[in-house]
Amino acid sequence: EVRVRYAPSPTGMQHIGGVRTALFNYLYARSQNGKFILRIEDTDQTRYSAEYEQNLYDTLAWLGLEWDEGGPRGGQYAPYVQSQRFDLYKKYALELVEKGQAYYCFCDEERLERIRKIQTMNKMPPGYDRHCRSLSSDEVKANLDAGKPFVIRLAVPMEGSTKFHDVLLGDIEWKNEDVNPDPVLLKSDGFPTYHLANIVDDHFMKITHVMRAQEWIPSTPLHVVMYKAFGWEHPDYCHLPMVMGQDGQKLSKRHGATSCNEFRNNGYLKEALINYVAMLGCSYEDARDMYTLEELGSLFRMEHINKAPAVFDYKKLEWFNGQYMRMKTDEELFDLTWPFIANSGLFGGCGAGEANGEEARKAAGFLFADQTLLRPTDEQKEKLMKVMPLIKERLHFLTDAPAMVSFLFGEPAVPPAEEIIPKKLDAAKTREILIEAKDVIAKIGGMTEEDANLLFKAAAEKLDAKLGDLMMPIRMAVTGSRVSPPLVGSIQILGIEVSLARIDRTLS
Ligand code: GLU
Repeated sequence: EVRVRYAPSPTGMQHIGGVRTALFNYLYARSQNGKFILRIEDTDQTRYSAEYEQNLYDTLAWLGLEWDEGGPRGGQYAPYVQSQRFDLYKKYALELVEKGQAYYCFCDEERLERIRKIQTMNKMPPGYDRHCRSLSSDEVKANLDAGKPFVIRLAVPMEGSTKFHDVLLGDIEWKNEDVNPDPVLLKSDGFPTYHLANIVDDHFMKITHVMRAQEWIPSTPLHVVMYKAFGWEHPDYCHLPMVMGQDGQKLSKRHGATSCNEFRNNGYLKEALINYVAMLGCSYEDARDMYTLEELGSLFRMEHINKAPAVFDYKKLEWFNGQYMRMKTDEELFDLTWPFIANSGLFGGCGAGEANGEEARKAAGFLFADQTLLRPTDEQKEKLMKVMPLIKERLHFLTDAPAMVSFLFGEPAVPPAEEIIPKKLDAAKTREILIEAKDVIAKIGGMTEEDANLLFKAAAEKLDAKLGDLMMPIRMAVTGSRVSPPLVGSIQILGIEVSLARIDRTLS
């Protein structure tokens, strides 16, 4: 049985690189009818935060990447949180000492610092000088009896080489003299380091494939050495190529949003994110664009991951976002846009229905975690449901919604003349247009959009104006904005009387 894991350290918000690692592991597990395990690598307690751990669960839950074992969910190899497994690591570090594959080191910080200084001064490669590797068992015993603080270090072989196979990169061989000289496995406070905890857990959790970012490659020879030292078999390795911005640099804040939270707050749909990230440096047999998570889960092939670094294209992701928004029903789109609309200040904190507290906050995820999400009043919901089909075609992001629907709520300020008068026309002509528009608007109450547009066209001809030059001042007068949904629908939802009053207001 295939068993893969996502093993993040909760030392920051989940970013898009982590999401990709999680997703590829998830998809591989699904494609093989295997298990996807979530392990929390919180050995670095100084950088750990409960908020980051929560963000990890929220992110995976939001994306729908359900894990089979791990985290708070538990499973047959529980606990899956490393800080709850410290005794185990200590036991196995000591076992390696027993076997002569690891040793006690009593060097204090002062000595290590001195070595570092000498190494830098003489341009020597950094690393421990293996001083304690040759202590006799009597010396060790005496130090332990005297209660001297110690760490346990791995005794990396000093000759020969260590080989492993990577599914994407092929055979990789490191000379042992180039492997980190004798890294610490157990710290002086009894905490394990990443290397020890990682491989003990992979072994006991029966992980079959390790899929992780390429930056971990230098650790892999070390891990292989440890597996050998224990006499265990190591899992298969697949190191994922880097994700870069368009400029060839590692993806970072400079390029745009990078944390999953930001994408969510910026109005991306999870379907778009999943679809796009799944294709980030990976291809699928039938070269389509759109895939559901389920389809990806059956089509994913590890061998179809590209060796070359992947380039993150925000424009392409935006395209996916538009596609998926258009596939939503009006009701779904309402639910998705409501948190953004309610918190846009459109209702000024009052006017919307009563606060919906915890329940709604959960529905909106962490979006507005420190605010109470308002419930829509019946009237608000009714208006919004009517306008959903109109804005659906125009949204790039969920965050575009508030500006598009604001004309329905409250009186927009009368736009200044320079925003109303089309470039090629003057004030007098614009007045003529608005007066003519009143006649048309009065008639279109129950009309189809097509018929109503014919009337606007006729009016444009009558005034010898371009259709666009006619519509623009009307749109500005009625909605106060250039980004409103299609005009006829907007007028009909707003109501003929209100629309006429807004034209009058603008004319006076
Ligand atoms: N805890 C490591 C990380 O934060 C896990 C690396 C691995 O998958 O081995 O990425």
